[in-house]
Amino acid sequence: MTVKKPIYLDNHATTKPDPRVVEALLPYLKEYFGNPASVGHIYGWEAEAGVKQARQIIAQAINAREEEIIFTSGATEANNLAIKGVAEAYFQKGRHIVTVSTEHNAVLEPCQYLEKLGFEVTYLPVKKNGLLDINLLADSIRTDTILVSVMTANNEIGVIQDIETIGAICKEKGVIFHTDAAQAIGKIPLDVEKMNVDLMSLTAHKVHGIKGVGALYIRSRNPRVKIAPQIHGGGQERGLRSGTLSPPLIVSFGETIKIALKEMPQENERLRRLRDYLWQKLSQLDGIHLNGDFQQRLPGNLNVSIEGVNGPALLLALNSKIAVSSGAACSSGNPKPSHVLKALGHSDQLAKASLRFGLGRFTTEAEIEEAAEVVLETVRILRRQKIAASPQ
Ligand SMILES: *Cc1c(COP(=O)(O)O)cnc(C)c1O
Repeated sequence: MTVKKPIYLDNHATTKPDPRVVEALLPYLKEYFGNPASVGHIYGWEAEAGVKQARQIIAQAINAREEEIIFTSGATEANNLAIKGVAEAYFQKGRHIVTVSTEHNAVLEPCQYLEKLGFEVTYLPVKKNGLLDINLLADSIRTDTILVSVMTANNEIGVIQDIETIGAICKEKGVIFHTDAAQAIGKIPLDVEKMNVDLMSLTAHKVHGIKGVGALYIRSRNPRVKIAPQIHGGGQERGLRSGTLSPPLIVSFGETIKIALKEMPQENERLRRLRDYLWQKLSQLDGIHLNGDFQQRLPGNLNVSIEGVNGPALLLALNSKIAVSSGAACSSGNPKPSHVLKALGHSDQLAKASLRFGLGRFTTEAEIEEAAEVVLETVRILRRQKIAASPQ
């Protein structure tokens, strides 16, 4: 007997690769297996041609130039390269970095690492809706600030920061601006010129690509941004990221972004409609809170906190029917409440009693209908059990 797997609503953790992406990759596992750095024969040229085409697609997607794209293993590596790379290249200019308390750990941990090396980091708080107070950000920039890092879209609560305004402030103050756009690429329009972004981290697997490939955009002019490499070796990627490139993964990344951009307008409409419907259903519950701004938000994201239920018990009761994350995203097995929900001012208990719904390309209306019913029913049962179990 095959067991029906739960409805997948965890598309901020990762997404199912689009079959078209898998098709595009296969020739580079089979006949075009060459090393793109082998410049002396056709095996190398074929592989390099695939890489070049993907690089063009990624560059175009964010209004950058091909030579400004450095392929990496994903957004974690891109964030590390950006943050540690700038720190190492500019430490004689200053040792102060500004970031936000709701960033992904792939930004927070490199910052904490740099603190141990003698850098000073300001972790800005956010407003109740998860958005940054722009004046607070502007005031936090000092003469010794070398880097500001603010994510484009949050992986837990889906809020989209005002990157254009933040970028303009950084530009005016002459500070390098990095944004982690792992959740944004292929979901919202990105333009490094319009947004005044100097460094942008990207990944394929949050938008129906494959895990293990991403990129860092590094501005090459107005101004030219210096980065110290963090991986040394054969000198690939202009010496900024050594290691043999993976043409299959890189080609799949290009195809991922090509498809996502082409389908973005209709897909966002569809996701927003499904997400709004889910919220409309769930908001029938008493004591349910929406986390994050409702307007400035990824169309496929819904994050709610539910009073009067135990978080782990809720997830356990749901997980045979729907696959979602609780208030501790990206740290499964780690019972600590999410630092993002804590930053919104929630208690530990309410933060843990949270659900993150991530809708994706393969999410259907029927699935959302069923998921809504399951959550409503489960919360009502858990609340009744709690009342029955409480001492009279
Ligand atoms: C998933 C994610 C990352 C990590 O990306 P990987 O490609 O898995 O290393 C970093 N930042 C954000 C916001 C993410 O959602």
